[in-house]
Amino acid sequence: MHNSQNIEQTSHILHLALPKMATLAIPVTPENYAIWFDYFAETNLNLKRAIDGLIANGVQFTPEVNLGLYNRFIEERSPEIIENVQIETQILINSLLNKIEQLNVGTESFSTNLNQFGEKLQTNPNADELSFIVISIAAEVDQVIANNRHMAASLESLSDEIVNLKDEMDNLSKVAMTDELTSLKNRRSYELFAAEQMTKFIDTQTVCSLLMIDIDDFKLFNDTFGHLIGDKVLAYVALAMKKTVKGDDLVARYGGEEFVVMLPNAKLNDAVNVAEKIRDRISLKQLSIGKEKKQNLGHITVSIGVATIQTGDDVDTLFSRADEQLYIAKSAGKNCVKFA
Ligand code: GH3
Ligand code: MG
Ligand code: MG
Repeated sequence: MHNSQNIEQTSHILHLALPKMATLAIPVTPENYAIWFDYFAETNLNLKRAIDGLIANGVQFTPEVNLGLYNRFIEERSPEIIENVQIETQILINSLLNKIEQLNVGTESFSTNLNQFGEKLQTNPNADELSFIVISIAAEVDQVIANNRHMAASLESLSDEIVNLKDEMDNLSKVAMTDELTSLKNRRSYELFAAEQMTKFIDTQTVCSLLMIDIDDFKLFNDTFGHLIGDKVLAYVALAMKKTVKGDDLVARYGGEEFVVMLPNAKLNDAVNVAEKIRDRISLKQLSIGKEKKQNLGHITVSIGVATIQTGDDVDTLFSRADEQLYIAKSAGKNCVKFA
Protein backbone atom coordinates (compact mmCIF):
# COMPACT_ATOMS: atom_id res chain seq x y z
CA MET A 1 0.00 0.00 0.00
CA HIS A 2 1.23 3.46 -0.89
CA ASN A 3 0.85 4.91 2.61
CA SER A 4 2.59 2.17 4.50
CA GLN A 5 5.39 2.28 1.95
CA ASN A 6 5.86 5.96 2.69
CA ILE A 7 6.07 5.50 6.39
CA GLU A 8 8.37 2.56 5.92
CA GLN A 9 10.67 4.64 3.76
CA THR A 10 10.68 7.52 6.23
CA SER A 11 11.62 5.22 9.04
CA HIS A 12 14.21 3.51 6.83
CA ILE A 13 15.86 6.88 6.16
CA LEU A 14 15.68 7.72 9.84
CA HIS A 15 17.60 4.55 10.66
CA LEU A 16 20.28 5.45 8.13
CA ALA A 17 20.54 9.14 8.96
CA LEU A 18 20.80 9.06 12.75
CA PRO A 19 23.75 6.62 13.02
CA LYS A 20 25.57 8.43 10.20
CA MET A 21 25.11 11.75 11.96
CA ALA A 22 26.38 10.18 15.19
CA THR A 23 29.47 8.83 13.40
CA LEU A 24 30.24 12.25 11.99
CA ALA A 25 29.53 13.92 15.37
CA ILE A 26 26.76 16.05 13.90
CA PRO A 27 24.19 17.22 16.47
CA VAL A 28 20.63 16.12 15.64
CA THR A 29 19.03 19.52 15.23
CA PRO A 30 16.04 20.00 12.90
CA GLU A 31 18.30 21.83 10.43
CA ASN A 32 20.96 19.11 10.42
CA TYR A 33 18.34 16.39 10.31
CA ALA A 34 16.76 18.06 7.26
CA ILE A 35 20.14 17.93 5.49
CA TRP A 36 20.75 14.28 6.28
CA PHE A 37 17.20 13.25 5.61
CA ASP A 38 17.55 14.70 2.10
CA TYR A 39 20.94 13.05 1.73
CA PHE A 40 19.54 9.56 2.30
CA ALA A 41 16.25 10.24 0.54
CA GLU A 42 18.40 11.16 -2.49
CA THR A 43 15.90 13.80 -3.52
CA ASN A 44 18.56 16.45 -3.99
CA LEU A 45 21.48 15.15 -5.99
CA ASN A 46 23.48 18.37 -5.65
CA LEU A 47 23.29 18.06 -1.88
CA LYS A 48 24.34 14.42 -2.10
CA ARG A 49 27.28 15.25 -4.36
CA ALA A 50 28.43 18.05 -2.07
CA ILE A 51 28.32 15.88 1.04
CA ASP A 52 30.06 12.96 -0.65
CA GLY A 53 32.76 15.42 -1.69
CA LEU A 54 33.15 16.69 1.88
CA ILE A 55 33.38 13.15 3.24
CA ALA A 56 35.86 12.09 0.54
CA ASN A 57 38.05 15.06 1.47
CA GLY A 58 37.89 14.26 5.18
CA VAL A 59 36.24 17.57 6.00
CA GLN A 60 34.91 17.92 9.57
CA PHE A 61 31.21 18.70 9.87
CA THR A 62 31.66 21.75 12.05
CA PRO A 63 28.69 24.01 12.87
CA GLU A 64 29.88 26.33 10.07
CA VAL A 65 29.99 23.53 7.51
CA ASN A 66 26.55 22.32 8.62
CA LEU A 67 25.11 25.82 8.38
CA GLY A 68 26.65 26.25 4.94
CA LEU A 69 25.00 23.05 3.70
CA TYR A 70 21.72 24.15 5.17
CA ASN A 71 21.85 27.58 3.54
CA ARG A 72 22.90 26.22 0.18
CA PHE A 73 20.63 23.25 -0.18
CA ILE A 74 17.68 23.31 2.17
CA GLU A 75 15.37 25.87 0.69
CA GLU A 76 13.10 28.27 2.45
CA ARG A 77 9.49 27.41 1.90
CA SER A 78 6.66 29.87 1.73
CA PRO A 79 5.06 31.08 4.99
CA GLU A 80 1.43 30.26 4.18
CA ILE A 81 2.35 26.64 3.58
CA ILE A 82 4.12 26.49 6.88
CA GLU A 83 1.12 27.97 8.62
CA ASN A 84 -1.22 25.34 7.16
CA VAL A 85 0.99 22.47 8.07
CA GLN A 86 1.52 23.95 11.50
CA ILE A 87 -2.21 23.94 12.19
CA GLU A 88 -2.60 20.41 10.85
CA THR A 89 0.30 19.15 12.89
CA GLN A 90 -1.20 20.68 16.01
CA ILE A 91 -4.53 18.96 15.29
CA LEU A 92 -2.72 15.69 14.72
CA ILE A 93 -0.81 16.00 17.99
CA ASN A 94 -3.99 16.74 19.90
CA SER A 95 -5.71 13.74 18.42
CA LEU A 96 -2.72 11.53 19.17
CA LEU A 97 -2.65 12.75 22.76
CA ASN A 98 -6.35 11.99 23.16
CA LYS A 99 -5.99 8.48 21.88
CA ILE A 100 -2.88 7.84 23.91
CA GLU A 101 -4.66 8.96 27.06
CA GLN A 102 -7.41 6.46 26.32
CA LEU A 103 -4.89 3.67 25.86
CA ASN A 104 -2.89 4.68 28.92
CA VAL A 105 -0.39 1.82 28.90
CA GLY A 106 3.37 2.22 28.86
CA THR A 107 3.25 5.33 26.77
CA GLU A 108 4.36 7.96 29.26
CA SER A 109 7.51 8.90 27.39
CA PHE A 110 5.67 9.05 24.09
CA SER A 111 3.12 11.53 25.38
CA THR A 112 5.86 13.59 27.04
CA ASN A 113 7.57 13.84 23.67
CA LEU A 114 4.33 14.75 21.97
CA ASN A 115 3.80 17.50 24.52
CA GLN A 116 7.25 18.81 23.72
CA PHE A 117 6.48 18.81 20.01
CA GLY A 118 3.27 20.66 20.81
CA GLU A 119 5.23 23.32 22.69
CA LYS A 120 7.73 23.55 19.87
CA LEU A 121 4.85 24.20 17.45
CA GLN A 122 3.88 27.28 19.46
CA THR A 123 7.28 28.85 18.74
CA ASN A 124 6.65 29.39 15.02
CA PRO A 125 8.89 26.69 13.63
CA ASN A 126 10.15 26.95 10.06
CA ALA A 127 9.45 24.34 7.36
CA ASP A 128 12.43 22.19 8.24
CA GLU A 129 11.66 22.18 11.92
CA LEU A 130 8.11 21.17 11.01
CA SER A 131 9.34 18.34 8.81
CA PHE A 132 11.52 17.28 11.69
CA ILE A 133 8.54 17.26 14.04
CA VAL A 134 6.42 15.22 11.65
CA ILE A 135 9.25 12.77 11.03
CA SER A 136 10.00 12.49 14.73
CA ILE A 137 6.36 11.76 15.48
CA ALA A 138 6.45 9.07 12.81
CA ALA A 139 9.54 7.58 14.42
CA GLU A 140 7.93 7.68 17.88
CA VAL A 141 4.88 5.90 16.57
CA ASP A 142 7.13 3.23 15.04
CA GLN A 143 8.84 2.78 18.37
CA VAL A 144 5.62 2.48 20.30
CA ILE A 145 4.23 0.02 17.76
CA ALA A 146 7.31 -2.13 18.17
CA ASN A 147 7.02 -2.08 21.97
CA ASN A 148 3.32 -2.61 22.19
CA ARG A 149 2.16 -5.15 19.68
CA HIS A 150 -1.33 -5.22 21.15
CA MET A 151 -1.80 -1.52 20.42
CA ALA A 152 -0.63 -1.92 16.88
CA ALA A 153 -3.97 -1.60 15.14
CA SER A 154 -4.93 1.57 16.87
CA LEU A 155 -1.54 3.21 16.48
CA GLU A 156 -1.21 2.22 12.87
CA SER A 157 -4.30 4.17 12.04
CA LEU A 158 -2.50 7.10 13.63
CA SER A 159 0.49 6.46 11.38
CA ASP A 160 -1.88 6.77 8.46
CA GLU A 161 -2.86 10.20 9.65
CA ILE A 162 0.80 11.17 9.75
CA VAL A 163 1.34 9.84 6.27
CA ASN A 164 -1.62 11.86 5.03
CA LEU A 165 -0.08 14.89 6.58
CA LYS A 166 3.18 14.17 4.78
CA ASP A 167 1.32 13.78 1.50
CA GLU A 168 -0.30 17.08 2.16
CA MET A 169 3.07 18.69 2.76
CA ASP A 170 4.21 17.31 -0.59
CA ASN A 171 1.13 18.68 -2.23
CA LEU A 172 1.58 22.08 -0.64
CA SER A 173 5.12 22.25 -1.90
CA LYS A 174 3.78 21.54 -5.40
CA VAL A 175 1.43 24.47 -4.96
CA ALA A 176 4.40 26.59 -3.97
CA MET A 177 6.02 25.82 -7.34
CA THR A 178 3.01 26.73 -9.49
CA ASP A 179 1.79 30.01 -10.90
CA GLU A 180 -1.92 30.30 -10.14
CA LEU A 181 -3.07 32.39 -13.08
CA THR A 182 -1.49 30.29 -15.82
CA SER A 183 -0.93 26.93 -14.05
CA LEU A 184 2.62 27.08 -15.35
CA LYS A 185 5.64 26.53 -13.16
CA ASN A 186 6.62 29.72 -11.32
CA ARG A 187 9.88 31.62 -11.12
CA ARG A 188 11.10 29.70 -8.10
CA SER A 189 10.59 26.48 -9.98
CA TYR A 190 12.50 27.84 -12.97
CA GLU A 191 15.42 28.82 -10.73
CA LEU A 192 15.70 25.31 -9.31
CA PHE A 193 15.44 23.77 -12.79
CA ALA A 194 18.06 26.13 -14.23
CA ALA A 195 20.46 25.30 -11.41
CA GLU A 196 20.00 21.59 -12.12
CA GLN A 197 20.68 22.10 -15.82
CA MET A 198 23.80 24.08 -14.97
CA THR A 199 25.16 21.25 -12.82
CA LYS A 200 24.34 18.75 -15.55
CA PHE A 201 26.30 20.84 -18.04
CA ILE A 202 29.31 21.12 -15.74
CA ASP A 203 29.26 17.38 -14.98
CA THR A 204 28.45 15.94 -18.40
CA GLN A 205 28.67 18.78 -20.96
CA THR A 206 24.97 18.29 -21.71
CA VAL A 207 23.83 21.56 -23.28
CA CYS A 208 20.55 23.36 -22.76
CA SER A 209 19.01 26.56 -24.09
CA LEU A 210 16.91 29.30 -22.61
CA LEU A 211 14.14 31.37 -24.21
CA MET A 212 13.03 34.66 -22.65
CA ILE A 213 9.59 35.55 -23.91
CA ASP A 214 7.83 38.87 -23.40
CA ILE A 215 4.39 39.81 -24.71
CA ASP A 216 4.52 42.87 -26.96
CA ASP A 217 2.62 46.02 -25.98
CA PHE A 218 0.69 44.22 -23.31
CA LYS A 219 0.09 47.40 -21.38
CA LEU A 220 -1.79 48.74 -24.38
CA PHE A 221 -3.76 45.48 -24.62
CA ASN A 222 -4.81 45.81 -20.97
CA ASP A 223 -5.68 49.46 -21.44
CA THR A 224 -7.82 48.59 -24.45
CA PHE A 225 -9.64 45.47 -23.24
CA GLY A 226 -9.23 45.53 -19.47
CA HIS A 227 -7.11 43.61 -17.03
CA LEU A 228 -9.48 40.62 -16.75
CA ILE A 229 -9.32 39.90 -20.46
CA GLY A 230 -5.56 40.48 -20.20
CA ASP A 231 -5.43 37.71 -17.59
CA LYS A 232 -7.25 35.33 -19.94
CA VAL A 233 -4.78 36.12 -22.69
CA LEU A 234 -1.89 35.35 -20.35
CA ALA A 235 -3.42 31.94 -19.70
CA TYR A 236 -3.86 31.43 -23.43
CA VAL A 237 -0.22 32.34 -24.15
CA ALA A 238 0.86 29.93 -21.44
CA LEU A 239 -1.10 27.12 -23.05
CA ALA A 240 0.22 27.93 -26.52
CA MET A 241 3.80 27.69 -25.24
CA LYS A 242 3.12 24.47 -23.35
CA LYS A 243 1.64 22.90 -26.48
CA THR A 244 4.67 23.82 -28.57
CA VAL A 245 7.34 22.23 -26.37
CA LYS A 246 8.19 18.66 -25.36
CA GLY A 247 7.64 16.92 -22.05
CA ASP A 248 11.14 17.51 -20.65
CA ASP A 249 11.08 21.22 -21.38
CA LEU A 250 10.23 23.66 -18.66
CA VAL A 251 7.81 26.50 -19.31
CA ALA A 252 7.54 28.98 -16.46
CA ARG A 253 5.97 32.34 -15.81
CA TYR A 254 8.89 34.49 -14.79
CA GLY A 255 6.66 37.37 -13.73
CA GLY A 256 3.99 39.67 -15.18
CA GLU A 257 3.85 39.10 -18.95
CA GLU A 258 7.30 37.51 -19.10
CA PHE A 259 7.96 33.81 -19.51
CA VAL A 260 10.98 31.54 -19.69
CA VAL A 261 11.30 28.26 -21.53
CA MET A 262 14.22 26.01 -20.72
CA LEU A 263 15.06 23.34 -23.26
CA PRO A 264 17.33 20.56 -22.00
CA ASN A 265 19.56 19.04 -24.70
CA ALA A 266 18.69 21.77 -27.22
CA LYS A 267 21.49 23.44 -29.17
CA LEU A 268 21.12 27.02 -30.31
CA ASN A 269 19.48 26.31 -33.66
CA ASP A 270 17.03 23.79 -32.13
CA ALA A 271 16.09 26.41 -29.57
CA VAL A 272 15.66 29.11 -32.22
CA ASN A 273 13.33 26.75 -34.11
CA VAL A 274 11.21 26.22 -31.00
CA ALA A 275 11.17 29.98 -30.39
CA GLU A 276 10.00 30.63 -33.96
CA LYS A 277 7.24 28.02 -33.55
CA ILE A 278 6.03 29.70 -30.36
CA ARG A 279 6.17 33.16 -31.91
CA ASP A 280 4.36 31.95 -35.01
CA ARG A 281 1.64 30.10 -33.18
CA ILE A 282 0.82 33.07 -30.96
CA SER A 283 0.93 35.75 -33.65
CA LEU A 284 -1.29 33.78 -36.06
CA LYS A 285 -4.09 33.24 -33.57
CA GLN A 286 -7.12 35.46 -33.99
CA LEU A 287 -8.17 36.14 -30.39
CA SER A 288 -11.79 36.53 -29.41
CA ILE A 289 -13.88 36.25 -26.29
CA GLY A 290 -17.54 35.47 -25.48
CA LYS A 291 -19.82 32.78 -26.92
CA GLU A 292 -22.77 34.47 -28.63
CA LYS A 293 -21.59 38.01 -29.18
CA LYS A 294 -17.94 37.45 -29.89
CA GLN A 295 -15.67 40.32 -29.09
CA ASN A 296 -12.72 40.48 -31.43
CA LEU A 297 -9.43 41.04 -29.60
CA GLY A 298 -7.19 41.06 -32.66
CA HIS A 299 -3.75 39.48 -32.47
CA ILE A 300 -1.03 39.58 -29.88
CA THR A 301 2.63 38.97 -30.50
CA VAL A 302 5.68 38.05 -28.46
CA SER A 303 9.37 38.89 -28.69
CA ILE A 304 11.87 36.19 -27.79
CA GLY A 305 15.55 36.20 -26.83
CA VAL A 306 17.47 32.91 -27.06
CA ALA A 307 20.76 31.83 -25.50
CA THR A 308 22.56 28.50 -25.16
CA ILE A 309 24.66 27.46 -22.23
CA GLN A 310 28.41 27.71 -22.73
CA THR A 311 31.55 27.00 -20.74
CA GLY A 312 32.02 29.46 -17.89
CA ASP A 313 28.28 30.22 -17.61
CA ASP A 314 26.35 30.34 -14.43
CA VAL A 315 22.58 30.64 -14.17
CA ASP A 316 22.80 34.44 -14.21
CA THR A 317 25.08 34.83 -17.23
CA LEU A 318 22.90 32.52 -19.30
CA PHE A 319 19.85 34.48 -18.24
CA SER A 320 21.49 37.83 -19.04
CA ARG A 321 22.40 36.72 -22.57
CA ALA A 322 18.84 35.64 -23.31
CA ASP A 323 17.54 38.86 -21.76
CA GLU A 324 19.91 40.97 -23.89
CA GLN A 325 18.61 39.24 -27.00
CA LEU A 326 15.06 39.92 -25.89
CA TYR A 327 15.94 43.59 -25.60
CA ILE A 328 17.43 43.47 -29.10
CA ALA A 329 14.24 41.81 -30.40
CA LYS A 330 12.16 44.62 -28.87
CA SER A 331 14.43 47.28 -30.42
CA ALA A 332 14.21 45.54 -33.79
CA GLY A 333 10.44 46.15 -33.90
CA LYS A 334 9.05 43.26 -31.73
CA ASN A 335 7.29 40.06 -32.89
CA CYS A 336 10.66 38.46 -33.65
CA VAL A 337 13.30 36.05 -32.30
CA LYS A 338 16.91 37.09 -31.65
CA PHE A 339 19.71 34.84 -30.45
CA ALA A 340 23.19 35.08 -29.00
P1 GH3 B 1 6.82 45.79 -24.50
O1 GH3 B 1 6.37 45.44 -25.88
O2 GH3 B 1 7.97 46.71 -24.51
O3 GH3 B 1 7.07 44.60 -23.67
O4 GH3 B 1 5.60 46.61 -23.85
P2 GH3 B 1 4.64 46.15 -22.70
O5 GH3 B 1 3.49 47.09 -22.64
O6 GH3 B 1 4.29 44.70 -22.86
O7 GH3 B 1 5.60 46.23 -21.47
P3 GH3 B 1 5.49 47.00 -20.10
O8 GH3 B 1 6.61 46.44 -19.27
O9 GH3 B 1 5.46 48.48 -20.31
O10 GH3 B 1 4.12 46.59 -19.49
C1 GH3 B 1 3.85 45.27 -19.09
C2 GH3 B 1 2.38 45.16 -18.88
O11 GH3 B 1 2.01 43.85 -18.55
C3 GH3 B 1 1.91 46.06 -17.78
C4 GH3 B 1 0.92 45.23 -17.02
O12 GH3 B 1 -0.34 45.84 -17.03
C5 GH3 B 1 0.84 43.92 -17.77
N1 GH3 B 1 0.77 42.80 -16.86
C6 GH3 B 1 1.74 42.32 -16.06
N2 GH3 B 1 1.24 41.31 -15.29
C7 GH3 B 1 -0.05 41.16 -15.62
C8 GH3 B 1 -1.11 40.28 -15.18
O13 GH3 B 1 -0.93 39.43 -14.31
N3 GH3 B 1 -2.33 40.42 -15.76
C9 GH3 B 1 -2.55 41.35 -16.73
N4 GH3 B 1 -3.78 41.43 -17.27
N5 GH3 B 1 -1.59 42.19 -17.15
C10 GH3 B 1 -0.36 42.11 -16.61
MG1 MG C 1 7.92 42.96 -19.77
MG1 MG D 1 5.87 43.29 -22.68
